[in-house]
Amino acid sequence: MAYDIVVVGAGPAGSVAAYECAKRGFKTLLLEKAIIPREKACGGAVMYRGIRILNGIIPRELIEQKIYGLRFGFHNGLASEFISHKLIGITVFRDKFDDFLSKRAVEAGVELAEGTRVIHTSVSDECATIQLQDGREFKSDFLIGADGVNSIVSRSLKLRPIRKDLTRIGLGMEADFYIGRAGVMKATNGNPSVLEILPITNRIGYGWIFPKREHLAIGIAGSGVHMQALRPDFDRFYQSLEKRLGVELKLEKRRTCFFGGEGLGGTNVTNRAILVGDAAGFVDPMMGEGIAYAMQSSILAVDVIAQAMAVDQYDADSLWKYHHLCRKAFSANFQMASWIGSRGLSFASNLLPRISGHKLASDVMAMVARGEIGYADIPYTVLKKIPRQIPNFIKYVAQSHIHTQN
Ligand SMILES: Cc1cc2nc3c(=O)[nH]c(=O)nc-3n(C[C@H](O)[C@H](O)[C@H](O)COP(=O)(O)OP(=O)(O)OC[C@H]3O[C@@H](n4cnc5c(N)ncnc54)[C@H](O)[C@@H]3O)c2cc1C
Repeated sequence: MAYDIVVVGAGPAGSVAAYECAKRGFKTLLLEKAIIPREKACGGAVMYRGIRILNGIIPRELIEQKIYGLRFGFHNGLASEFISHKLIGITVFRDKFDDFLSKRAVEAGVELAEGTRVIHTSVSDECATIQLQDGREFKSDFLIGADGVNSIVSRSLKLRPIRKDLTRIGLGMEADFYIGRAGVMKATNGNPSVLEILPITNRIGYGWIFPKREHLAIGIAGSGVHMQALRPDFDRFYQSLEKRLGVELKLEKRRTCFFGGEGLGGTNVTNRAILVGDAAGFVDPMMGEGIAYAMQSSILAVDVIAQAMAVDQYDADSLWKYHHLCRKAFSANFQMASWIGSRGLSFASNLLPRISGHKLASDVMAMVARGEIGYADIPYTVLKKIPRQIPNFIKYVAQSHIHTQN
């Protein structure tokens, strides 16, 4: 066999998967259709759970801003802000961040082939076969599909339908606006360490402003069916921000992309193959966060593959454990996020402004953002913490209720 493992796609999922394979001594080939560094439509917020997966080892020059807070705006005009003393994430430029991850894989012993587009994959009892657009063909014991939301691996292995179901998938558009360091400070009222999430007028979806060192990453996203007029919506959204932020936003380039959105509903293993990251649909269905889940799913996948290889078993049943591991790791977030994203938005827009700025709420929000608890663990965590804070908390909610009534 030419390779133990072939990984398709050198985004965060693929580069982390390939790195983990090489670290275990597997002969690994990483195939990427683009030339690295390549562009990727993304707000570039890497939450703390993602930083932890990399053991905090991210070159300083890649970190655009350290993030300590979240601010949510709502259709009813209310807003809520949660600031933590703990780091909850960073912002990066994806071309540089992904370049770093692929170089890290190469340094660990991965063979990287850039500019190689995979057009078909198949699996048999003997091997996985990967065909390239240039006519070449590779064979391996295992195949990892990390080729993103439009994954050819998932479709050629019949794990996903050929045509996308737009009701189950999101769509986003974003751009980085250069406004200089002073501009970033002005637009963020002197605090560029807060990620801001905003509603989009008349649409089911949301927008964001993520500060970088000299840029603002601004974007909108929502369900594929609601976002067909994406470009005018995006233009209206960023233009509406100019007045509020007090800076001129000069558009250089819009980027657009689907959001992976199967959550935990899809089948992600077959004989000799596993899907990871966006190819598997591991994106938070509420916020569209996917970088950390991409990297974490890759680590889980390589663990399972290594166990299967140790006992020489390459069938789907031996790999099925991957589903259980992903469910255990992600379900507390995905199920609750999906509920909030669909039915609980009005609940969130009523509740969050009332608890805005409260220490307990900020602490819990930071725990979620840092990956210490999932969304579904919030009620239990609040109840556990609340006895010590009951008098303050009740007073706080009652006061804010009176304010909103007035
Ligand atoms: C507008 C937008 C904003 C977002 N903002 C955020 C954010 O702020 N924070 C966050 O955590 N997540 C965000 N996400 C989600 C995040 O971008 C993805 O979840 C993440 O990139 C998934 O990583 P991945 O490695 O699975 O896929 P990708 O990053 O998409 O990487 C897949 C790689 O596979 C390559 N590839 C594809 N097809 C082939 C082929 N046939 N042959 C060879 N190579 C191939 C691609 O070129 C690419 O390099 C955003 C998404 C969108 C659309």
